[in-house]
Amino acid sequence: MANIVTTPENKTMTDLASKNNLAQCLSRVKQQIDVASATINANVQLLAVSKKHPAQKIQQVSELGQRSFGENYVQEGVEKVQQLRHLDLDWHFIGPIQSNKSRLVAEHFSWVHTIDSLKLARRLNEQRPSSLAPLKVLIQVNISQQASKSGVELEEITELATAISGFKNLVLRGLMCIPAPLDDCALRQEFLTMRQQFDQLQKIFPQVDTLSMGMSGDLDLAIKSGSTMVRVGSAIFGQRPE
Ligand SMILES: *Cc1c(COP(=O)(O)O)cnc(C)c1O
Repeated sequence: MANIVTTPENKTMTDLASKNNLAQCLSRVKQQIDVASATINANVQLLAVSKKHPAQKIQQVSELGQRSFGENYVQEGVEKVQQLRHLDLDWHFIGPIQSNKSRLVAEHFSWVHTIDSLKLARRLNEQRPSSLAPLKVLIQVNISQQASKSGVELEEITELATAISGFKNLVLRGLMCIPAPLDDCALRQEFLTMRQQFDQLQKIFPQVDTLSMGMSGDLDLAIKSGSTMVRVGSAIFGQRPE
């Protein structure tokens, strides 16, 4: 921040300005969600993606009524979960998980959106403390079939879902995707394919209720295509610091 904070009065002013700004951005995003979901009469959840933003900003957004936050990096996420422990927030892990970090995720988060292998699911199930509620998980689908990207193929969803449903410390809640950059027409096709897969999965596993798709730049299209949870970072928090 360019302003140099020198006095307590100044600090209060800066906090207030920042909170006003967050309030405006949050309400704009909520309005965008309302408008898009009204056309299809759906209930869409907002996940505020707080990666690279400090705990203080998350606290400010939580004071505006937002309860669910998403983090991408294990170490950074766990630090914020601990710093904001007093706030009773719902923490979602939405980044890739290396094997040696899975325990931290199992111990500190209530949701994981990025289950992309049986091995990861098994580890999280073993590492989830039994004193906590089962970890809510989403299977990440490699919808754009990018060789470099994580996620399972469409044909692999049911098998992984079946395995997860046998794990007592996990509960399968749905699917998640991060499409490649595409034009709107192609993107819409991929979102609709995800929705079809979601509907099919729900028939086999009735507790499935979450389709995590859509970010700041494409949340309208995602909602109109059947998303039930959008993951919004920059439209709420502004640009991420490097
Ligand atoms: C960063 C991130 C988001 C949020 O992206 P914005 O464009 O800032 O809204 C959503 N989902 C995932 C998986 C992310 O890594």
